[in-house]
Amino acid sequence: MTKIFEITHRDCAARIGKLTLDRELSTPAIIQLNEKDSPIIDSGSMWKNTENIGDLSKKIVIAPHKSLPLHTEEDIIDQIQESFDTGAALQQIKDNSGHTGIVIHPFHQNPIEADLFVLGAAKQLDNHARDFVNSIIQLKESTRSDSLLYVPALATPENLSMLVYMGVDIVDETLSTIKGHQDLYLTNSGEYHLDRMHEFPCSCPVCSCNTPQELIKLSKKERAEALSKHNILKLGEEMRNVREHIRSGHLREYIERQCRARPWLTAALRLIDAEGTFLEKRTPLFRSSTLYANTAESMNRVEIRRFAQRVLERYTPPDLDTLVLLPCSAKKPYSISTSHQKFINALGKYRRYVHEVIITSPMGIVPRELELMYPAAHYDTPVTGYWDKEERAWVGGCLRSYLQKNSYKNIVAHVNGAYREICEDVAGELGLNFVFTADEGVTSRASLAKLEQAVSGYENVKKRSGEEAKLDLMRAAADYQFGKGAGDILVSGAVVKAPFPKFQLFSGKQLATLIPQYGTIALTVEGGQRIAAQPHYRVKIGDFLPHSSILAPGVEYADPHIRPGDEVLVEGEKFFGVGRALMSGWEIKECRKGIAVELRHSKTID
Ligand SMILES: [Zn+2]
Repeated sequence: MTKIFEITHRDCAARIGKLTLDRELSTPAIIQLNEKDSPIIDSGSMWKNTENIGDLSKKIVIAPHKSLPLHTEEDIIDQIQESFDTGAALQQIKDNSGHTGIVIHPFHQNPIEADLFVLGAAKQLDNHARDFVNSIIQLKESTRSDSLLYVPALATPENLSMLVYMGVDIVDETLSTIKGHQDLYLTNSGEYHLDRMHEFPCSCPVCSCNTPQELIKLSKKERAEALSKHNILKLGEEMRNVREHIRSGHLREYIERQCRARPWLTAALRLIDAEGTFLEKRTPLFRSSTLYANTAESMNRVEIRRFAQRVLERYTPPDLDTLVLLPCSAKKPYSISTSHQKFINALGKYRRYVHEVIITSPMGIVPRELELMYPAAHYDTPVTGYWDKEERAWVGGCLRSYLQKNSYKNIVAHVNGAYREICEDVAGELGLNFVFTADEGVTSRASLAKLEQAVSGYENVKKRSGEEAKLDLMRAAADYQFGKGAGDILVSGAVVKAPFPKFQLFSGKQLATLIPQYGTIALTVEGGQRIAAQPHYRVKIGDFLPHSSILAPGVEYADPHIRPGDEVLVEGEKFFGVGRALMSGWEIKECRKGIAVELRHSKTID
């Protein structure tokens, strides 16, 4: 196996890559197998004479196979596969310096290593969300991450984004062409029978030179050609559109609206989300784009669930007696919003005695210390005052779990509307006493006075200084990124310099910097060495001294917890460095090309 595929952009399971064969192919790509100069050659059911094909080192050859229907008995699949002797065929391709491709039946997967996997009977997965999701997840999870996935005869402008979202790298024009021959006019929002159309919404050469009525008058052959041409152009247009969404970090938002085109696509999205780990393993720690939580499915996004899970499992609140629950604000981070400025003013000198936690949909709960952390300061969501049942259950569940784990002597809830109803439910369930201070709207003079009165009335023994609050923020970010306990080790004996939010942590030398854009911390070598004893987010390299980046093949071990964007510690025999991972840990181990870690600081160890 040689290195012919390099992934350059990742977003969830979707990726943009470069396939280097006799010509460079940018993936995800639309190919035509029967094209004369196609870099991918299908042997079909007959073993092709490879002599006429030319230099096989620049081609992927798909081993002989037989198309089997989706629901074929397992022993029949076995028998047929044996009759093709796929292993021997693959060996022959390799012996001729070719790159290998094999066809895999969706329900019968026992993949042999290959450069390209072709999902057999893929056309029949159309409109079958569960089979579609299960077979692709199974195939992706049992093959190397830098092998390619080709799903033939399934792509349409409508479903293409979902195919790519699931990690499909290559599709073809087959189904779009077939639909053209069936008088079906394709768009990314659905397909139309030509005879029911009054005007074309598209301005491609076919649509701008013809009306539907004019196309109907053409001969069957001419009509099919014209419609196929439009359909294929739309498929290409959608591919460029999807690639742009991957690059901008907005593919998920696009999928959430594009899947509405067809119930099975919406079902597919819900099934992938429910599966849990497939997307999580592939989702970066942060993005530079705003996370738009516009749909019911947004609540199930990896970024939202991961934040809630880490607040519960990794975050330790400051040791204070009083909790003040506050509503979210449209402006982020919350603390710079007008409403939060009013809350902070009302808390006044008592602020040092209280711990502030923000309740919000769809994030759940956000401790003040993590308000900068992606996606807490990076989401936008429609606000109407109406909360649906699932939203209430999710946010209420986050608050309940948090309060079951962390106890306070006093709980003040400065919230109203649905927030208050959620708080009342949780208080009732847990038998806790909440003091509600916002009867007349959260920013009214009377409510703010009531908030001040409530926090001033407690006999608080525990308090923290402004300096301690700054250290708590750095501690919380470190725990969030590296795991519970890492923050304590990092901030022990240290001080925070520079104003919010550009905090810098020092203990003699600089240990870390807060990156305000994402709320994450970036370590220095000294900071990295402080937490080097913690078990996760480590990458081990061999006996060499890297400079600016570490390539995946140079990595001997990478912690499986690592996600793209994670701050990682890089250790070699005579080397220690800190940097940012560009791939997940499990993927670093599988990839034979590409940058695994971008180093920020490093030093040689004697
Ligand atoms: Zn058109």
